[in-house]
Amino acid sequence: MGKVSKQLLTVENTNNMFKYIANAVIQEKPLLTEIDSAIGDGDHGIGMEIGFKNSLSLLEEKSYTYVNDIFKDIGMSMINNMGGASGVLFGTFFLASVKGEENLDSLNLEKLAHLFEKGLDGVKQRGKASVGDKTMIDALEPAINGLKKKASETDDLVEAMKYAANCAEQGLESTKQLVAKFGRAKTLGERAIGQQDAGATTITIMFQSMHEWLSEKE
Ligand code: ADP
Ligand code: MG
Repeated sequence: MGKVSKQLLTVENTNNMFKYIANAVIQEKPLLTEIDSAIGDGDHGIGMEIGFKNSLSLLEEKSYTYVNDIFKDIGMSMINNMGGASGVLFGTFFLASVKGEENLDSLNLEKLAHLFEKGLDGVKQRGKASVGDKTMIDALEPAINGLKKKASETDDLVEAMKYAANCAEQGLESTKQLVAKFGRAKTLGERAIGQQDAGATTITIMFQSMHEWLSEKE
């Protein structure tokens, strides 16, 4: 697998990290299904599994020269195979991250935070949701802000991702108190209160698993 530094991810490291994230989300399919069944149509876990399984087969079979193509393959896998609102939105996150970027043969914290910030902007432009609307944005935006804050203080990926994952968890927790403004949960009104958002749960799992991968492999 190769040793991973705390400061720099090679293309191979990046590939391995995203495979780890994909497997972590796939493992949580029952939880995602349960959450989306409570206030949505119950398909979020199924969709995420399809998107990440498709991504996994590409990441496993291809040999990458640039980080950019890993992001593009994950994004396209989601858009082409998942369907639903979240297929486009999660796919957009990965595609918008690397859109217009020069080819990268490694990632450091500053660069990763920059890419993810562009991804967040892409999702917000596409879906028009803001913090407080009970969507994935409630976990994603605090996580990215956390990552950016840490990037201004340190170059330690593990420390930064730990902080970002915590921010995502807090954002996810906040969705329990919210009424949904988008997606199917919108029709539930006040009845959605008490339930956490499915997409924000997936985002939190992604950041937690990134932190886990980075700290286990350091
Ligand atoms: P669908 O809503 O088509 O059934 P999923 O169940 O896979 O799709 O995903 C639902 C999740 O998508 C929600 O929990 C929410 O986090 C996210 N979502 C829905 N609409 C938006 C939006 N406009 N912006 C950001 N995220 C959204
Ligand atoms: Mg759904």
